[in-house]
Amino acid sequence: MHDPQNIVIIGGGFAGTTLANQLERRLPPGYRVVLISEESYTTFNPMLAEVVGASVFPEHVVAPIRQMLDASRGSQFMMGRVTALDREHRQVTVQTLAGPRVVAYAHLVLAFGTRANMELVPGLAQHALPLKLVGDALFIRNRVLQRVACIELERDAGVRARLGHFVVIGGGFSGVEVAGELMDFLHGALRFYPRVQRSELRVTLLQDLGRLLPELPESLGRAAARSLVARGIDVRLMARATEISAQGVALGPKQFVAAGTVICTIGTRPNPLVERLALPLQRGRIQTEPDLRVSDTQDLWAIGDCALVRNAAADNAVAPPTAQFAVAQAKLAADNIRAVLIARPTRPFGHISKGMMATTGHLKGVAQVAGLRLSGLPAWLLWRAYYLSRMPTLGRKFRIWVEWTWGMFFAADITHLRFTRTHEADREAIAP
Ligand SMILES: Cc1cc2nc3c(=O)[nH]c(=O)nc-3n(C[C@H](O)[C@H](O)[C@H](O)COP(=O)(O)OP(=O)(O)OC[C@H]3O[C@@H](n4cnc5c(N)ncnc54)[C@H](O)[C@@H]3O)c2cc1C
Repeated sequence: MHDPQNIVIIGGGFAGTTLANQLERRLPPGYRVVLISEESYTTFNPMLAEVVGASVFPEHVVAPIRQMLDASRGSQFMMGRVTALDREHRQVTVQTLAGPRVVAYAHLVLAFGTRANMELVPGLAQHALPLKLVGDALFIRNRVLQRVACIELERDAGVRARLGHFVVIGGGFSGVEVAGELMDFLHGALRFYPRVQRSELRVTLLQDLGRLLPELPESLGRAAARSLVARGIDVRLMARATEISAQGVALGPKQFVAAGTVICTIGTRPNPLVERLALPLQRGRIQTEPDLRVSDTQDLWAIGDCALVRNAAADNAVAPPTAQFAVAQAKLAADNIRAVLIARPTRPFGHISKGMMATTGHLKGVAQVAGLRLSGLPAWLLWRAYYLSRMPTLGRKFRIWVEWTWGMFFAADITHLRFTRTHEADREAIAP
């Protein structure tokens, strides 16, 4: 018997994992799904801010890809980074822990997302902390706890003020979420640091537009701003960061915000793999046909943040790089790949947004769903319920639900974990 032919998906994010799940149930005999991704897990990026604020554990914003796939249907997962594509022989090269591997495909789906862009503002790469990966979220959380521990021991009032000031750049979803979470986290942690005053811990949110959350209706942007300001966050609109240094953030030639920690939630750049593929690009994203096939190709597809997809349900506007659109594109790609395999016509992409949600801190949020506008606890509960519904396996859902419920009533964890190993214990000194 011949081996089944591979439908290879590169990228285990929202787009790649949804596509794998949809496809494995409807592939005709003789085909199987092979999902290749750099990490063994998929990350629920919209919850990264809550890892920063320690309202969820890092394990709760990731899900193991192997548990999401159905091996009984022949689906396979390979952990590794795709580094090259040979279109003539229909194969990709993957760098894995066991060395390079070549994987053949009948159809190839590109769903490898984007990277954070740390070149947007001078000094950003050197002095700001990006928030794109779970590792970033944990690093920021540890840095925040380090800062508070430092303030406790510092005598110089100027240094204390700078160390206690946290600046978040970007007033979109992640900026608003991080600023809100951070403030709640700092206030919650204060009682364990008796020599730090509440007034010494400040969070400033910089947004270069005239409003927060431009993706949501203006009233919800205003509700989010009110919620942040009510908790003491300094929300600065029309404030564009022009340079970042170890001392803080310059806002043009005349204004300077002194801060010890700068968190960056703005800007993306194309995945480096894009440049190596020699495919048609537009604004750094892979150009697609209405049915999600890569332009000028028959067996390549692109979905999610790495793809430039036009939305037939919104006057052919470019679909936004959001989780909701990545999932909608994955569902259509599954239909269309099956259609091609059984010689049926494909359909164009069209999706009407089902709504948007954002948290503005612990137990607070704003949402617009099915025409309804919500803010405060109901929006936050809706947000959590949605992400819980997307977690794989009933056991995992239940465990996370129990721990989230626990987290609603008890203080956030302020453990600052250092990964010191036995052989490093003696030589390691605490970094300044
Ligand atoms: C902090 C943050 C907050 C966000 N908040 C929201 C929100 O509130 N609402 C919303 O709708 N959207 C939000 N987004 C955007 C949303 O997360 C993305 O739109 C979504 O993740 C896109 O899915 P994707 O599958 O295209 O890409 P990704 O989720 O980025 O997945 C790409 C995958 O490809 C893998 N990969 C990359 N290169 C390779 C390679 N060469 N070989 C193998 N694998 C590779 C990566 O490791 C990754 O697993 C947020 C994003 C961030 C960073």
